[in-house]
Amino acid sequence: MLLTITYTGNDTQDLGYLLHKNPYRSQEFDLNSGKAYVFYPEVSDHKTTMALMLDINPIDLVKGKKGAENNGLFDYVNDRPYTATSFLSTAITRIFSTAMNGRCDKRQQLADSKLDLTARIYAIQGKDEFTRKIFEPLGYTVSTSKTVLDEKFSEWGESPYIDLEISGNVRLADLLNHLYVLIPVFDKQKHYLISEDEIDKLMSHGGEWLAEHPAKKEIIYRYFLMKKSYAHTAIDRLTENEPVEEVTDENKEIPEKKISLNRQRLETVKNAVLASGAESVIDLGCGECRLTKILLEQKQLRKVTAVDVSAHELEKAKTRLHYDTMNEHRKNKLTLMQGSLTYRDKRFSGYDCACVIEVVEHIEPLRLPAFERNVFEFSEAKTVIITTPNKEYNQNYEFIPEGQLRHNDHRFEWTREDFKKWSEYICEKFGYTVQISGIGEEDSNYGTPTQMGVFTKCV
Ligand code: SAH
Repeated sequence: MLLTITYTGNDTQDLGYLLHKNPYRSQEFDLNSGKAYVFYPEVSDHKTTMALMLDINPIDLVKGKKGAENNGLFDYVNDRPYTATSFLSTAITRIFSTAMNGRCDKRQQLADSKLDLTARIYAIQGKDEFTRKIFEPLGYTVSTSKTVLDEKFSEWGESPYIDLEISGNVRLADLLNHLYVLIPVFDKQKHYLISEDEIDKLMSHGGEWLAEHPAKKEIIYRYFLMKKSYAHTAIDRLTENEPVEEVTDENKEIPEKKISLNRQRLETVKNAVLASGAESVIDLGCGECRLTKILLEQKQLRKVTAVDVSAHELEKAKTRLHYDTMNEHRKNKLTLMQGSLTYRDKRFSGYDCACVIEVVEHIEPLRLPAFERNVFEFSEAKTVIITTPNKEYNQNYEFIPEGQLRHNDHRFEWTREDFKKWSEYICEKFGYTVQISGIGEEDSNYGTPTQMGVFTKCV
């Protein structure tokens, strides 16, 4: 199974920075079902190609080597080691997760830019027409060639496999996310059992562009192997109206689990901000500004600032906030800025309240001390609100691949005990008290999916 990505232009060796894989050193990765290799067959100023090769052991697959996840899903003789399938998608997220998030400290501008990129996939099941329907609306030029069988096998008819090449002027992160979502669409099988968690994965990798894709329904049905319940939920989420509904008194009777976890989180955090009495708030690691948008609507708040390290997220935030057509009053209330929570930055100080929502788990453990000082010491916020996943709750997601966390970019996830210990350490070190609570449906053994700490500065 082989995927190559070619970058043409100037200083194309920088592809190595963007992919976080050194072009002058081949690398090997252990996957559940075999090995993956990353190497660069060509490196030059004007053209650089990275190759990702998977070496899957068909016998291990049949036996379900590590745990029962693959057990019984495959026959002894199968095409899995040779064709592009969900294995390749899983390898892409495991090996290029930072690149998929569009992050590159050394070449951020390049990561945010559209580049001339070509991806080639060798042996994927599909017809030329279908590949065009899937990739052309995303702006790619598509070309395919048939895998030709040796003459002596001619009685077997045509091979169902093709080699696929897509070229376009795209951000590398977008190309990787397109491949991640779309490769399994060509296949009738996945190497793991589909669960609800797949919907979140699809949203995080395809949420933006898939909503606009003319073949989105077909893509989603195929992605979920025609399992209607998952496909319908995903289609609903993709097409749901963007503004986040507030849970007002009139619709309080909506059963809790029907309101998405994300909405519950936003609502709970907004209430905690207001309850703290804050008049100014900074949303640190704001992403697309889902929370900021709600905070902006609150009369109690006269100043709302949103910070993220990613220029791309801030661009998306501007669209979500309708920044260009925003009235003057709102614009004066709002400040959007790019910045990192792991570097001291004077602009983060002077707010009554700091919200750090689903961010801490994205910080490299080595950088956590710097993050802690910025958030709890230098910002001088009277109230700090942190939310983070509760790792124990992952048990309730039927399937999270072995060794993986809830999202690709998470550096760690905390159990309730881990979070409590960390919070106590923070209180002791920086002079805060904390109230810990859960957000989302509670499981009697594993708690709630999200945990929240509201830290109040001791006076
Ligand atoms: N708070 C948002 C986004 C959460 S996703 C929400 O709840 O919807 C995590 C966000 O943290 C991403 O947008 C990512 O770009 C940002 N992030 C990760 N590391 C960061 C850092 N060091 N400094 C600032 N932002 C960071």
